[in-house]
Amino acid sequence: MTEQSKRIFGIDLGTTYSSIAYVDEYGKAVIIPNAENERVTPSVVFFDDESIVVGDVAKESSKLYPNEVVSFVKRSMGEPNFIFLHNSEEYRAEEISAYILKKLAQDAEQFLGEPVTDVVITCPAYFGINEREATRKAGEIAGFNVRHIINEPTAAAIAYGSLDSSEDRVVLVYDLGGGTFDVTMIDIRKDSVEVICTGGDHNLGGKDWDDRVVAHMVEVFQNETGTDEDILDDPDTWQDLQLSAEKAKKILSQRPKTPISITHGGERVKMLIDREKFEEITEDLLERTIEFTREMLGEAKNKGYQSFDEIILVGGATRMPQIKTRIEENFSITPKVFDPDEAVAKGAAIYGWKLTLNDGLIQRLSQKTNRPIAHMDEISEMLETNTLSDNDFKAAAQEVADVTGYTLPSIERSMLKVRNVTSKSFGVVAHTPKNEEIVFNIVLRNTTVPITLKKNFYTAVENQKTVLIRIMESETSRVEVPPEHAVEIKTAILNLPPNLPADLPIEITFTLNEEGQLHIMAMETSQARQIEVVVDTASVIAGEDLERAITRSQNLVVH
Ligand code: AMP
Repeated sequence: MTEQSKRIFGIDLGTTYSSIAYVDEYGKAVIIPNAENERVTPSVVFFDDESIVVGDVAKESSKLYPNEVVSFVKRSMGEPNFIFLHNSEEYRAEEISAYILKKLAQDAEQFLGEPVTDVVITCPAYFGINEREATRKAGEIAGFNVRHIINEPTAAAIAYGSLDSSEDRVVLVYDLGGGTFDVTMIDIRKDSVEVICTGGDHNLGGKDWDDRVVAHMVEVFQNETGTDEDILDDPDTWQDLQLSAEKAKKILSQRPKTPISITHGGERVKMLIDREKFEEITEDLLERTIEFTREMLGEAKNKGYQSFDEIILVGGATRMPQIKTRIEENFSITPKVFDPDEAVAKGAAIYGWKLTLNDGLIQRLSQKTNRPIAHMDEISEMLETNTLSDNDFKAAAQEVADVTGYTLPSIERSMLKVRNVTSKSFGVVAHTPKNEEIVFNIVLRNTTVPITLKKNFYTAVENQKTVLIRIMESETSRVEVPPEHAVEIKTAILNLPPNLPADLPIEITFTLNEEGQLHIMAMETSQARQIEVVVDTASVIAGEDLERAITRSQNLVVH
């Protein structure tokens, strides 16, 4: 692009595979192949003696060096207890994910001959506040300017919607990836992509199908050899079986049966697995995805969406033929397979491209109207209220078209509104009149974001120094839930000014922005003074750990 503004790349940071895309000079989203000339890169990191290796070689190395290889790190995002130890150094999930991002970016830079600085990274829709923050931190550790964290199904819907924007339709995105399952209802219109409802399970994905095949292989091995040893205790065998199981699973998407051989402790067993057996041992996993889908549809009904027009399948694991068959049986609709491996990265790239063009429009219209504009919504509002004339808007759009080389209709298309919902409820710990702890939800899941809500807390004693607020996340849609049904994700400490009376209302403002980030502000109501809020969480890398990760990452070439 000729515009001096930054190109923004889209990255699908997947549990098992990741990919990077950009929008080319014709406005088309394109996947950038890696140095091995593959369009997706295994999200596997191998800590070699001197260097870090990411991708296919790392995945292959897992057979020989199972203890030096990290796979499925995405499942540990926002997980405070996950630490990978290598040469007495500790690595958190954010840092390991940063290496995957670095590999994608380095290869893309090599391919395109331009630096990758600004990115949009995707995450599953049901990622909570901390997992999203951790994803953003991974990007920062890798050295990027993270412009947005966008939900995977939303990105897929953007990619899908960008193909044909002529018809309004309500779409279900059924996304079964390597480690996660999302199902999301999205209202796609000419000028907007709006998420209505989302549900899913962050511990259900293609890997679980692999695990079932592994368990079956162990059983066959034990029967054939007469041993009752748990052969998975041997890390080499475990890795070997995992890789063979995934291969077998993929072949079964194409063929009715496939041979597998199991080698352990000098013994070798050959077996055949057919599609029928595979479907039988994984039946309940598929059923769970259908249950989540039904549950989500129930919630959508409450929001006035009684039906939908299409189901699109994304995520590599939707290639298993039984998924399509089962959805047809259950919902009497033939799902469309849509670019399962690439839709998410492409959608993120289109979103990044939109942000670049929006930057151009915002900058020019701020100058033209002589007022600072922060967000595209303000431009839409100004157009609706005639505080901005169509002519001024068109002139600015034409200028952006001229400098970027894109057509005027694509600049107008970049006005596309994208609306999300929060996938979790969040609230605070309060006390009942009987002084029992209860979680009082402030924002209920499937509420459209951004949203700002205020709640009053009260000082308990005179001259109270601090107020501690425990922020809880849950998956229920009820306003009040017992604390054991929610997880504490953060604490916010309010440092109060001196000499406040007892029972004084402290007004707390919670803002959940469109990326799912939570901001907390507080004000004491006697003199309307702003109160300092210190938010703390163990779940996201911070402080010295973050500094060290950034330094280590800067000095590192990923292969
Ligand atoms: P994603 O996270 O969307 O890249 O999906 C990766 C998952 O899709 C992994 O569990 C893969 O094993 C699985 N997958 C990829 N291709 C196939 C295929 N042909 N048949 C079945 N599963 C597949």
